[in-house]
Amino acid sequence: MSEGLLVVLSGPSGAGKGTLRPGLLAAFPNLRFCISATTRPPRRNETHGQSYLFWTRQQFERVRDAGGLLEWAEYVGNLYGTPREPVEQLLAEGRDVLLEKEMQGAGQLKEAFPQGVFIFVLPPSVAELKRRIAGRDTESPAEQLRRLQKATAELESLPDYHYDYVVVNDRLEDALDRIRAIIVAEHCRISRQAPGWVDAFCRRSEAT
Ligand code: ADP
Ligand code: 5GP
Repeated sequence: MSEGLLVVLSGPSGAGKGTLRPGLLAAFPNLRFCISATTRPPRRNETHGQSYLFWTRQQFERVRDAGGLLEWAEYVGNLYGTPREPVEQLLAEGRDVLLEKEMQGAGQLKEAFPQGVFIFVLPPSVAELKRRIAGRDTESPAEQLRRLQKATAELESLPDYHYDYVVVNDRLEDALDRIRAIIVAEHCRISRQAPGWVDAFCRRSEAT
């Protein structure tokens, strides 16, 4: 069995990564989303174990220092990280894994999983990003401003990162089409075929 495909969606908070998620999970039955751990407080519609693992800073640092995270980053004052075990286990079982990460974390994952596919999701404009962050209505105006400032800084540093693809999330269905197309194409790469796939193909052909 060959290892599953790691798909990392990255990009500024409010670009729409979480909104794209259900459409991707529905399109690919072999794709699993792995939740992150964070020290930020839950939003009103978020529950522990569903949206995030909501940990104290002490819990987070303990797991991180014991090597239990694949990557971690500080984002506007809170810590975010990816628990190692579920991701490694799912990939080893041949499942595809979907992750949503800000840029520093995506960069660390790119080092650890160069064979993964790294997609940068952009809003159509900074003005629209501002509308989306405000429209989500999950942070105070001061916190919304911090996220917007962070987004601008992230966009400026984009050339320093090595994403494979960029997708503008203007119309949701168009962005979904593009990401679905990327995942299908990545699975067709010769380099991702199981070892010995040509021999297996020839044997199958002889038998028919
Ligand atoms: P992220 O996960 O990247 O932080 P979200 O998925 O929470 O972003 O999206 C931020 C806000 O933008 C949400 O209120 C969501 O409904 C809205 N949104 C996402 N994608 C679109 C889109 N294509 N068109 C309009 N609004 C969108
Ligand atoms: P939010 O607070 O809006 O849920 O997330 C803030 C940012 O952190 C978003 O860009 C989100 O995708 C990203 N993020 C979520 N989980 C993780 C994680 O485990 N690691 C890293 N590096 N970023 C994460």
